[in-house]
Amino acid sequence: MPSDNISENLVFPAVRLPSAAIAGTPKLFPIRRIFCVGRNYAEHARELGHEVDRQTPFYFLKLTDSVVFSGAMIPYPPGTEDCHYEGEFVVAIGAPAFRIPAEKAGEIVYGYAAGIDLTRRDLQSAAKEKGRPWDLGKTFENAAMLGTITPAAAFGPVGDQRIVLKQNGEIRQDARLSDFIWSVPELIAHLSRYYHLQPGDLLYTGTPAGVGAVSPGDTLRVEIDGLERLEIAIGAAE
Ligand code: MN
Repeated sequence: MPSDNISENLVFPAVRLPSAAIAGTPKLFPIRRIFCVGRNYAEHARELGHEVDRQTPFYFLKLTDSVVFSGAMIPYPPGTEDCHYEGEFVVAIGAPAFRIPAEKAGEIVYGYAAGIDLTRRDLQSAAKEKGRPWDLGKTFENAAMLGTITPAAAFGPVGDQRIVLKQNGEIRQDARLSDFIWSVPELIAHLSRYYHLQPGDLLYTGTPAGVGAVSPGDTLRVEIDGLERLEIAIGAAE
């Protein structure tokens, strides 16, 4: 039995995963998996009615075909009447790691980007109430918005950089990366206890307070000190 990806053995062509732009080089960052952290800013946890939990971080995933890059106009997503922006700082993993200690986690970071964890809040909330998985609310086409990746060396240490999300030019989210409940090294160390992290993996690190609904015609922009701006336009529903 053939088990390879040679095209003559496939009944249709294999999907080619998306690759992200990198600042300062024409080369691209091939995306592998998309991990997302829930409730990593205290103010956002409170606005959704949750206690701040320092016990353990939790995660959800987005399918790789959720990715959409800066500059795109996307249709308003299907199946929702309450689609929310969540501006986020995204970590791009550049080397394999399993059970890596937080002190060494910086060594496997390729770079950082601005992102939006687009969320069908009504579907997520309905799932939460019933104790069901969040997938319908969190992974769908264009739900993983991603800006250009800036290499870690050019960005420097993650500190108190400002993260801002603007909707039609109005500031909706405004925080500092120092507001994280779980730091980037802590998240990488924790996640690597459950997965063999691989080059190409992305980690969306959670959103600050101020999430809200998007509408057709909106422009969303995420600005993070030291990173290229992410900008996405929302078009009419399909
Ligand atoms: Mn999020």
